[in-house]
Amino acid sequence: MNAPRKLHIKSYGCQMNVYDAQRMVDTLARENFVETDNAADADLVILNTCHIREKASEKVYSELGRLREAKEDAAGAGRDMKIVVAGCVAQAEGAEIVRRAPVVDVVVGPQSYHHLPDLLRRAARDGRAIETEFPLQDKFTSLAPPQPAAIRARGITSFVTVQEGCDKFCTFCVVPYTRGAEVSRPVAKIVDDVRRLADNGVREITLIGQNVNAFHGEGPDGKPWPLGKLLHHIAAIQGIARLRYTTSHPCDVDDSLIAAHRDLPALMPYLHLPVQSGSDRILGGMNRKHTVADYHRVIDRFRAVRADMAFSSDFIVGFPGETDQDFAATLALVAQIGYASAYSFKYSPRPGTPAADMQGMIDAATMDQRLAQLQQLIDSQQSAFNAGCIGKTLDVLFEQAGRRAGQLVGRSAYLQPVHVMASPDIVGQVLPVTLTGLERYSFFGDLPAEHAPVAASHRDHASLTATTGA
Ligand code: SAM
Ligand code: SF4
Repeated sequence: MNAPRKLHIKSYGCQMNVYDAQRMVDTLARENFVETDNAADADLVILNTCHIREKASEKVYSELGRLREAKEDAAGAGRDMKIVVAGCVAQAEGAEIVRRAPVVDVVVGPQSYHHLPDLLRRAARDGRAIETEFPLQDKFTSLAPPQPAAIRARGITSFVTVQEGCDKFCTFCVVPYTRGAEVSRPVAKIVDDVRRLADNGVREITLIGQNVNAFHGEGPDGKPWPLGKLLHHIAAIQGIARLRYTTSHPCDVDDSLIAAHRDLPALMPYLHLPVQSGSDRILGGMNRKHTVADYHRVIDRFRAVRADMAFSSDFIVGFPGETDQDFAATLALVAQIGYASAYSFKYSPRPGTPAADMQGMIDAATMDQRLAQLQQLIDSQQSAFNAGCIGKTLDVLFEQAGRRAGQLVGRSAYLQPVHVMASPDIVGQVLPVTLTGLERYSFFGDLPAEHAPVAASHRDHASLTATTGA
């Protein structure tokens, strides 16, 4: 057998891309590729790109500039380095990528990456291969499942895609164009994936999709199942301690999802539910299909079934036509909801989306000022939420060793990193931790006595590592 070839993959953007990158690695493992951290050393470099904002797209071209030099160095040393651009920039720009960066050998959209082995062969034969179709055949059935060793190496938490694409067509968003129409995977296939992961030590599953709660995959009864029913089914799989799902749309929250939060202790009481703006006028312009009052009603439904529910959101500031009053309404919404954390972005016009042609673009200085103001409010809410956890005892799922000898790090239900001094045996366990201190976004705390072999030293703030940003 030939020596393994080296593969370096760099992913930008959302958790869908992180998941897709792993599936590309699994598929190329069958072709005798092994992963390397060092791009300069690789025989194959894949950039798994994001097109959601202009900055994200432009990063790809700077990276391709650096890779051109690495490819020339490799050629100088008698090695052939192939470069692939995958993901949403590949889908949106297609052949334009090769025109701007002739160093690229393969361009492959997010719905076609199961064809990578063929595309690499085509590029070797013809000099280049480009595929940005939306094939009818199910990508997931053609992808290699991860090997047990790969699952174990990736740790005790894992993403599983249950749904792809989006039919919502928010006027600012490229996703419906780059990822295509909504498609849900059959329940049986998802269950197979989760079982394989659980059998190899995975304890926490995050079900992912661009619009995950629009899930309507075919159940074993031949009928479409909503996400809540899928969650009930997966919660029963041996070994699964925690479930999460992301990203949800407020309009697709149904009774089954509320029931899942009411009934399933494994379903974490922390939800990313983007609202984008607190102004009904702007929500209308965005084609979000819900009002501020609708959003409040949905939040109230979750809180009614789980008092410990916490929320995060995405916000866009400076959407075309956003007035000072519209922005004030966003600040008011944030103040009313009280988020545990949130992401906020300056509006970035995306070619081909309706909002890019709207009147009333907001000037850069106003956008900067609004973003800073919103982020300050969100930061203060996050700090207050975290400060309110000090002194409480929260369940923590332990994931890995910390940077310091004897230190372990895990996550609370709210994804807060929590550091304790303990034996590595507890990796994979959910244990109660009394939170005693906080440094930036990281907590430290005390385990029950039987699990805490080292006394007191976890109060040493210097022991906190920067391994895990919130
Ligand atoms: N499907 C999710 C939803 O409905 O909110 C998230 C989609 S997107 C991958 C993640 C976030 O990027 C969005 O929630 C939005 O806040 C932001 N975003 C998308 N398009 C944008 C644009 N053109 N400019 C600025 N932010 C954008
Ligand atoms: Fe984009 Fe809107 Fe679909 Fe989210 S719901 S992916 S923001 S179009």
